[in-house]
Amino acid sequence: APPAEKFEYQAEVNRLMDLIVHSLYSNKEVFLRELVSNASDALDKLRYLSVTDPDLLKDGPELDIRIQTDKDNGIITITDSGIGMTRQELVESLGTIASSGTAKFLKALKESQEASVDSNLIGQFGVGFYSAFLVADKVAVSTKSPRSEKQYVWEAESESNSYTIREETDPEKLLPRGTRLTLYLKRDDKGFAHPERIQKLVKNYSQFVSFPIYTWQEKGFTKEVEVDEDPAAAKTEGDGDTEKQAKKKTKTVVEKYWDWELTNETQPIWLRNPREVSTEEYNEFYKKTFNEYLDPLASSHFTTEGEVEFRSILYVPATKKEDITDRKTKNIRLYVKRVFISDDFDGELFPRYLSFVKGVVDSNDLPLNVSREILQESRIVRIMRKRLVRKAFDMILGISCSENRDDYETFWENYGKFLKLGCMEDKENHKRIAPLLRFFSSQSNDELISLDEYVESMKPDQKAIYYIAGDSLSSAKNAPFLEKLNEKGYEVLLLVDPMDEVSITNLNSYKDKNFVDISKEDLDLGDKNEEREKEIKQEYSQTCDWIKKRLGEKVARVDISNRLSSSPCVLVAAKFGWSANMERLMRAQSM
Ligand code: ADP
Ligand code: MG
Repeated sequence: APPAEKFEYQAEVNRLMDLIVHSLYSNKEVFLRELVSNASDALDKLRYLSVTDPDLLKDGPELDIRIQTDKDNGIITITDSGIGMTRQELVESLGTIASSGTAKFLKALKESQEASVDSNLIGQFGVGFYSAFLVADKVAVSTKSPRSEKQYVWEAESESNSYTIREETDPEKLLPRGTRLTLYLKRDDKGFAHPERIQKLVKNYSQFVSFPIYTWQEKGFTKEVEVDEDPAAAKTEGDGDTEKQAKKKTKTVVEKYWDWELTNETQPIWLRNPREVSTEEYNEFYKKTFNEYLDPLASSHFTTEGEVEFRSILYVPATKKEDITDRKTKNIRLYVKRVFISDDFDGELFPRYLSFVKGVVDSNDLPLNVSREILQESRIVRIMRKRLVRKAFDMILGISCSENRDDYETFWENYGKFLKLGCMEDKENHKRIAPLLRFFSSQSNDELISLDEYVESMKPDQKAIYYIAGDSLSSAKNAPFLEKLNEKGYEVLLLVDPMDEVSITNLNSYKDKNFVDISKEDLDLGDKNEEREKEIKQEYSQTCDWIKKRLGEKVARVDISNRLSSSPCVLVAAKFGWSANMERLMRAQSM
């Protein structure tokens, strides 16, 4: 066979390896979670691809994970019958940082900016494959892809900047398909190679893996063996039946042997009866599936039957999603008849403005070889999407009604702008979005209020929901336009987020009350005295003409107003023109 070839790691991998070996001491046991999840991913990939290419399974239909321990030598092997890796894939996957989870870890590390590394970080994010080096000083990955003739071995030691790849030549080590990881444990970590310890870790970390995980366990069964009667003992009994009894004498012995033992429960959590799943289990599933470290703000587990049948668990995360336009979220994992299909179809299953929702969806009605094109054309998907959106709103409404006000505050801070985007992009769901919106108000002292709260405290003679936009809370609060409304006791929404006004103008009205911009010129507060206005207008018409002449092109018109109480004058926008705030926005955008 050709000799092993040596490769250097990408710089980030070196950095990560250095951290793993020298700084991350506690929480080492997460290595098992990471490696088992890789095995599970590899099995998922194979199962998915085999739907259209059944030949991939020709080397054996079994899809499972087997973990064997050698406690005397401190060795753990983890074998999966998944998709394996070609030589090229070995170099790309294990020599560079491809995984978003690991990248997330490095980013968090940078942000934490502490001299000593918070060892919790690794528990939160995981560092993927390289976590093997938390416990091992040498790792071998022997892998056979069904697309490759040969099996290859990737090998590395923890204190090295390089790894080698060679062909597997030992016939004893050839796999029909899949990957075997061999961890040569560090001296102090050899305890992980105890079969009971591994069994416990598997139970703890892999309860949501949907493939069987077997661990190699010592077992015993008792059996009765006939033993020859001790002639001396027989004599002491001293009756005539001694011979007959001696023949029957048996003894119980324990026979020891080793065998594979199924160690996890493989029924996916979403197939279980919601009444029998605890909140803790939902949260654990969420954190393990989506690599999250905070519990979600809410979850919803439901089944729909009838026209379209699917099961789903949805979550509202507690972590902020920064980029509103990011479509590559991988937040929704689509299964068809329990086969993982893809986490790339978020856009087909949820509108953009709900892209922060995470979850799993398992359909019985879609074909296994479903593609984006099929999803986009499918009537079934349209119905699913509608139901999913409705459930997502129920879930968010649930947070807003919860006794714990902090939860909704967190939600609003994280995802408020997404709902405002929804006002623009999803007219059909205005009824669901509007009650979830929150705004500052002239009467609420820096606290956000809902439109329901606004409507409830409307004055009996008040006809509309009034608002004013500004670039800060204080400038909105001090706008002269507010004077008259404050005097009347009318509450005014203070729209200080650039997206507030856009969302409100898209809604148009709430509970039959129109939204009215108090900075527009025709504001009618229902207290017009036309006679008197006419008189005053006439009286001051020359003054107005004079001011218009002085200001020239700077203003369109100079008028007498009944909208102020103490300020002498105010600049207003024309009824059909942009509000001052919109002008500011447009100006900012054109720069
Ligand atoms: P992630 O799993 O987030 O992609 P990892 O660092 O855990 O990141 O793994 C890196 C890559 O190595 C995986 O994406 C996969 O391509 C490959 N890999 C790791 N373990 C296996 C395995 N058991 N079978 C096949 N490929 C694997
Ligand atoms: Mg991984």
